[in-house]
Amino acid sequence: MTVPIVIIGSGLAAWSTVRELRKLEALSSMALQPIILVCADNGDFYAKPTLSNALAQRRTPAQLITTPAAKIAETQNVTLIANTCVHKIDAQARVVHTDKGNFNYDRLVMALGASPIRVPVAGDAAQEVLSVNSLTDFAVFHAKLDGTPKHVAIMGAGLIGCEFANDLALGGHTVSVIDPAPRALAALIDEDTSLALQSKLAPLGVTWHFGTAVEAAQKHENRIRLTLANGEMLKADLILSAVGLRPNVQLAKDAGLTTDRGVVVDEFLQTSDSAIFALGDCAQYGFVSGKIQVLPYVMPVMHASRALASTLAGKPTPVRFPAMPVRVKTPAHPITVASPV
Ligand SMILES: Cc1cc2nc3c(=O)[nH]c(=O)nc-3n(C[C@H](O)[C@H](O)[C@H](O)COP(=O)(O)OP(=O)(O)OC[C@H]3O[C@@H](n4cnc5c(N)ncnc54)[C@H](O)[C@@H]3O)c2cc1C
Repeated sequence: MTVPIVIIGSGLAAWSTVRELRKLEALSSMALQPIILVCADNGDFYAKPTLSNALAQRRTPAQLITTPAAKIAETQNVTLIANTCVHKIDAQARVVHTDKGNFNYDRLVMALGASPIRVPVAGDAAQEVLSVNSLTDFAVFHAKLDGTPKHVAIMGAGLIGCEFANDLALGGHTVSVIDPAPRALAALIDEDTSLALQSKLAPLGVTWHFGTAVEAAQKHENRIRLTLANGEMLKADLILSAVGLRPNVQLAKDAGLTTDRGVVVDEFLQTSDSAIFALGDCAQYGFVSGKIQVLPYVMPVMHASRALASTLAGKPTPVRFPAMPVRVKTPAHPITVASPV
């Protein structure tokens, strides 16, 4: 029996690789390669960028699913092992170990994504700090918003923090954004553009707290009392942390693969093991611009998945990233950030 390609993950990187590979196989009338896709979540396909503009559109978490897992697995001819965590990769034996058994692979694709960075917050409400990096996270956040106006404190005035601030405001909530930086999107745009964004969001109910951070969160009369590093006190119903993501590298590291900020890959998306590939938010494209490049955006995933599919189909193909501007989804003041590459 042919040993399958195993893909870990069911986000954009994983499903795009599957789709691109199946397209190539159909075009060249190749036999379908067996694929096993193992993912910690349920495998439903959704566009992650919609998580930060769903509230204004009154879309529920269920409405964000574009293709249910069973449907995509059937149409793409994939064996889906959902709700299953891979806890070890034996690179020598070419086996992945999961909580539902072990799977041999011919080639392995790591599409593991990244995890929200947690900054330390003191106080008895620290455990209530939420982050949204998956549909499941969004469902939790959406349920807590409860359809009634809330005051949400957002830690982080970066891309995700600003998008959620705009979306929450349009969804009828008030927002406080707290960031140690001096202005919104400070790492990405010039001062004038930051000031324009801030002034467009303020009348919608967004208050900005720059040059400070959340030190403590205490439960207080069914709400949360925040103490900021500058001594200011705020009251909120929910706290959303949007301070950044860290690529999921532990599995790769434990398997002896080269990792740095992400799982290091070459232009063929190949890791330091010739049978293992990585792409998406977990990957570090060491060959781009000669510096460390973690590219946690949609366009790099699309380009990488096309190249990788071609390689998996038997034609080794390097990925070439063109200019890839990122659109910040802040309808109060839409911004396009120059290519991260
Ligand atoms: C709110 C939000 C808005 C965004 N908006 C934009 C935008 O407007 N434009 C843009 O370009 N980018 C945007 N992005 C970024 C973009 O969505 C991501 O770069 C992209 O979706 C990453 O896809 P991925 O497949 O690499 O990772 P993920 O979607 O995170 O998938 C990772 C998968 O790996 C699985 N997994 C992890 N570890 C294991 C394990 N041990 N065993 C089994 N499975 C495992 C997970 O369950 C998951 O299925 C946004 C991101 C967020 C959070």
